[in-house]
Amino acid sequence: QRESIKVLLLENVNQTGRDILEQQGYQVEFLKSSLPEDQLIQKIRDVHVIGIRSKTKLTENVLKHARNLIVIGCFCIGTNQVDLQYAARNGIAVFNSPFSNSRSVAELVIAEVIALARQLGDRSMELHNGVWNKVSNGCWEIRGKTLGIVGYGHIGSQLSVLAESMGMSVIYYDVVNLMSMGTARQVSSLEELLGAADFVSLHVPELPETKNLFTSKQFEQMKNGSYLINNSRGSVVEIAALVDAMRTGKVAGAALDVYPNEPGGNGPYFSNELNSWTADLTKLKNVILTPHIGGSTEEAQSAIGIEVANALVRFVNEGATLGAVNMPEVNLRSLTLDEPNHVRVIFIHKNVPGVLRRVNSILGNHNVDKQMTDSRGEVAYLMADISDVDQGEIKDLYQSLEEDSSRIRVRVLY
Ligand code: NAD
Repeated sequence: QRESIKVLLLENVNQTGRDILEQQGYQVEFLKSSLPEDQLIQKIRDVHVIGIRSKTKLTENVLKHARNLIVIGCFCIGTNQVDLQYAARNGIAVFNSPFSNSRSVAELVIAEVIALARQLGDRSMELHNGVWNKVSNGCWEIRGKTLGIVGYGHIGSQLSVLAESMGMSVIYYDVVNLMSMGTARQVSSLEELLGAADFVSLHVPELPETKNLFTSKQFEQMKNGSYLINNSRGSVVEIAALVDAMRTGKVAGAALDVYPNEPGGNGPYFSNELNSWTADLTKLKNVILTPHIGGSTEEAQSAIGIEVANALVRFVNEGATLGAVNMPEVNLRSLTLDEPNHVRVIFIHKNVPGVLRRVNSILGNHNVDKQMTDSRGEVAYLMADISDVDQGEIKDLYQSLEEDSSRIRVRVLY
């Protein structure tokens, strides 16, 4: 029964997400802040669903008190605040929203391309200090210039479309072969891209292979007087090498939104104590520094609310784990629970030998319309749609699955 599903939303999750969950008829409790651990443990005991952002820490110590929890929604990008392994081992699916802010990041890059080309940051700072400095030297239109995109994923490809529509020509480098948007062209090496681009914008994930992807060697390979924009992750660029490249004039400007070390909260924390090169960087001309705001827009927050809430609803109502960050991804199309005697069996279990044989002997007396199984690490997931289960048989079916030694969690939807 949907009315019996209890949802706890913390940290002022966006209204769009709250609306979707309430429209389902779930009991939704909404709090603006996160909770201290002792209160969180009290609250989490009875809920089936919890929605958080980045401040709520769902550690093993907290999660072990959650008797009914089946799913966690992280209404943000990161999922470090959740013990994903513990959650998976206990049949709790975790969802997040990795791509809802792609457009916001791409738009920021467009703003930065123009701002760097026109030295807008410096002119504005000068006037704030009472200095009138009308110059055209070293200032450019972006029309006809080449944008080199490194990492042509969700953000890189969005940026490609926007940049072309402003008259730029776009080249990109990615480790996989990808379909180009518009007339953009994939190049075969980073070096080739750096030798041809007037503006270089980084959109790769944080990986061991992308750590210090940009050091003095890459700056050397860039065109004289070109620009670097990094809105990806702070580990990708070695900032000391960027400072050197800007001092020699090799790089004419840079925009950074992410840093190797970032403060935990707002305040006067961007200092040399945090990153040893801060004083050198902040003294340079034509450097735009922003505090990791690439994805921070009202639209992105609203889209995150919709995406995560919909994933929670699909998991609660149908067991679908598409997009889950800690579970095998399983889904069966065309759930037909409205029809008499149709049920969906959800069996999350330990990934050990012999389970399918036993489960199929339990389901084998019935007419299994569709079935899907998948595993991820220690956890496996079997979903089956059955079309001939009488109301009276549901309990027995549930009980037999509950008794299997591999069981993590059983649900029978009807
Ligand atoms: P994505 O996964 O959709 O795309 C990344 C692309 O990079 C993929 O096409 C992948 O093949 C490619 N890639 C991986 N390794 C590479 C390498 N060594 N060289 C070249 N290409 C490589 O990711 P996305 O959603 O476009 O995000 C890109 C980056 O932006 C991530 O680091 C993400 O964390 C960051 N991000 C930052 C903000 C912000 O606020 N500044 C917001 C959202 C995302």
